[in-house]
Amino acid sequence: LEQTFIMIKPDGVARGLVGEVIKRFEQKGYYLRALKLKNVERELAEEHYVDLKSKPFYPGLVEYIVSGPVVAMVWEGKQSVVTGRKIIGATNPLQSEPGTVRGDFCIDVGRNLIHGSDAVESAKREIALWFPEGLS
Ligand code: ATP
Ligand code: MG
Repeated sequence: LEQTFIMIKPDGVARGLVGEVIKRFEQKGYYLRALKLKNVERELAEEHYVDLKSKPFYPGLVEYIVSGPVVAMVWEGKQSVVTGRKIIGATNPLQSEPGTVRGDFCIDVGRNLIHGSDAVESAKREIALWFPEGLS
């Protein structure tokens, strides 16, 4: 079964939106395979977003991810990667449709609440990175 890596970013945890996000993935029919609250080391944040290293916003993005605890999750089910991205909404919350997590709860691209893997291969890389202990 296809798995995707979903992370509630520090603003989502601080704002008390963990339950809201979990509810949406559960309601859709996905199965929660792993979950942990984690204070993120800088090295992990840098590696997670390594593909964006050349972007001007990369240093601020890393600061954002290490600014407080995140909730790291693995969700499983049919086309969970692409559908997970639909549940999350567009990167810039001003363009995210209402009904998506970003569309409903934020307005700032630099504080956009949640991450979702963008491809099956990215999901595999990210799950290995965030759950090196493996899934139970
Ligand atoms: P994520 O990977 O976090 O799920 P995404 O796949 O929708 O987001 P990416 O292009 O991978 O978008 O960008 C990663 C993150 O970098 C975004 O979620 C956002 O927090 C931040 N980001 C992207 N573009 C900008 C920007 N122009 N200014 C500030 N931050 C940005
Ligand atoms: Mg991305």
